[in-house]
Amino acid sequence: MRIEHTMSHVSRRLVLLLIIIQTVWAPIVAHATSCIDNYSLQPVMDDGEAIPPLTSISNFDHVKSQEMLDEYVRQSNDVLQKGLAKLRAMDPAFDPSVISLQPARKKVVVKNGTEKYKASYLELKINGSKISPKAKSRVAAYLRRLARLHPDMRVYLSPIVNKSMGTYGFFDPSLTTELALFLDETSVKNFTLDQPFDDTILHEGRHLAYEDSRRRGLPPTVYDYGLETANGKRASYLEGYEDYLSFEEFYSWFRDLMSAILDLRDPSLGVDIAKKLEEIDSILESLEALVVDRKETGIIVFRQKLKKADIADVTVRITKKSGVEVTVGDYSLSNLHPNVINKFKSIAHTTEGKKQVVAYFLDDLNKFEKAMLGARKDLPDVREALEDLKAFEGTPAQIREYAAEFEQYVHWVNRHFDGLRN
Ligand SMILES: [Zn+2]
Repeated sequence: MRIEHTMSHVSRRLVLLLIIIQTVWAPIVAHATSCIDNYSLQPVMDDGEAIPPLTSISNFDHVKSQEMLDEYVRQSNDVLQKGLAKLRAMDPAFDPSVISLQPARKKVVVKNGTEKYKASYLELKINGSKISPKAKSRVAAYLRRLARLHPDMRVYLSPIVNKSMGTYGFFDPSLTTELALFLDETSVKNFTLDQPFDDTILHEGRHLAYEDSRRRGLPPTVYDYGLETANGKRASYLEGYEDYLSFEEFYSWFRDLMSAILDLRDPSLGVDIAKKLEEIDSILESLEALVVDRKETGIIVFRQKLKKADIADVTVRITKKSGVEVTVGDYSLSNLHPNVINKFKSIAHTTEGKKQVVAYFLDDLNKFEKAMLGARKDLPDVREALEDLKAFEGTPAQIREYAAEFEQYVHWVNRHFDGLRN
């Protein structure tokens, strides 16, 4: 299954499948989901085959008929209708100006071999900037706070579109009039239970914040880059990010690790310790795939190639889609920040201009590679501390206390990447 013309940042968790999106932004992966509502009657197809409920699946790889997709649309719409009713009952702040159930502008498309199925679906749209200060639920207060920082933020609860891409959630930077987050039924469930601090929304919220700072023209950082590879060359060894990896993804993953640990440490959140440790393990595994597992990540390969390349073999382009893009062989590094585009747009076509772009990119690549190598050296200690923590037997309070040491290790590794912000 391949999704085209979608630019997304995606949340990857636990296991999973992925679909690559061939654009400036990152691809997609998903995580296992939990049920918001159990369907007492499991739908069956005409041929008698049971359809696994929407809430138990993480992608549409098994969808092989229009009828099946229609059934999932029905379930997705149902989840949203029930979610809307619960949210309205939970908090008067979720009035019709804030939250609305509406037909999505696009159709959901599922490809299976040569077959293609399409369907219209509903999405629940939340405009956090319209939430009244009197909001009483945690989720309303949280969304209002986020919207205060990012007034253009709109949250779309949209299980069907996430399943179609195999994601838990994604940020879509192609919608330029708003900062659009698309979240699945796990977030619907968390919202209706008044548990807003779902890690998917936090992760995608970080992508949103970076994009917002670019749109506002705040100073560029090394996190504005993305590396795209072609012809089987790898951007990274993280599943779902083989062909494209944004640098802010690294930062977001480290922050995910940190926020999962802080959740574990905070007794007021009442997290399930075993589940949280599993989640921490899974995030750490992804970071290991990004930073530790292979010597030759795309970023290191590309820096070497760019450093050695004859200027005549380097292509510099400026496009609306990719911003400033430097290509050497099968690797392209692009920077979408408007300040970077403005800096180079009048000179990028000259040899002298090209040299300046390459020098600018190399400088940031050096910083990034140094941070990666630092983290590569330190991450095994984090792994060891996590294994200790997992093996530790004690009361929840004792485990939380024991986790303090682990938290320090993670802070220590984070420092490598934190220093790359402004
Ligand atoms: Zn991401």
